[in-house]
Amino acid sequence: MSEIVIELKNVQKVYPMGGEKIVALDDVSLKFYKGKIYCLLGVSGSGKSTLLNIIAGLEKPTKGEIIFKGHDIHKMNEKRLASFRQRYIGFVFQQYNLMPTLSALENTTLPLIFRKVPKRVRNERAKKMLKAVGLGKRLRNKPSQMSGGQQQRVSIARAFVNNPQVVFADEPTGNLDTKTTQEMMNLILGMAKTYEQTLILVTHNLELSKYCDQVIHIRDGKIEKIEDVADKIEITTKGEF
Ligand code: ADP
Ligand code: MG
Repeated sequence: MSEIVIELKNVQKVYPMGGEKIVALDDVSLKFYKGKIYCLLGVSGSGKSTLLNIIAGLEKPTKGEIIFKGHDIHKMNEKRLASFRQRYIGFVFQQYNLMPTLSALENTTLPLIFRKVPKRVRNERAKKMLKAVGLGKRLRNKPSQMSGGQQQRVSIARAFVNNPQVVFADEPTGNLDTKTTQEMMNLILGMAKTYEQTLILVTHNLELSKYCDQVIHIRDGKIEKIEDVADKIEITTKGEF
């Protein structure tokens, strides 16, 4: 059995709303292993983003424990959490979340700036990444000068540039057409596989779940079932950088 990278124990998240309480996550216990591809599947409002944010240390649970690479991240303060995220985690968001005033190259170097990598090394690594995602000729383009698919490629380059242990992708292809979706999935999964990263993909799209090792079905904040994918679609392209 490979290494457990993240473990959740009895995690609960309650949002107070006026006099009422919204139970966004209800007693969630899960284990994520190194190098595996997970799909978090559920309808809108089922708690997917809340779960992802809690695993990534962006939100605190109301109750329960999150053990990430042996660290109790529910106990960490903001400062430690920030450096923890910079060290271990990459993110791909549906809205790309690129800095509008920065070029593709500058956006991709951001995680390396936070980790104080020297400028020359930063630029070299970011260039390699952008080439790997097919944007070798778009280094100087700003987000507004690129298509949605190209912007998502930049955000994929940024997510992987640090070689993080875990990559979170929250509806990464939600705004893209079918062909571009296929290309992005190949890129994300190819890289995760090449570098033995754990990938947690959030989606409401059943099609995408076929690319994963395991599908975690979530409903009303509860884990409904966990399903191993028998006829997983294997990615043959290598995502090297
Ligand atoms: P999903 O990503 O599956 O669409 P979310 O995790 O965003 O679902 O939301 C789960 C539930 O928690 C929803 O009922 C949502 O309205 C509620 N919720 C999410 N974030 C907040 C918040 N910051 N304050 C109050 N309620 C929230
Ligand atoms: Mg969501």
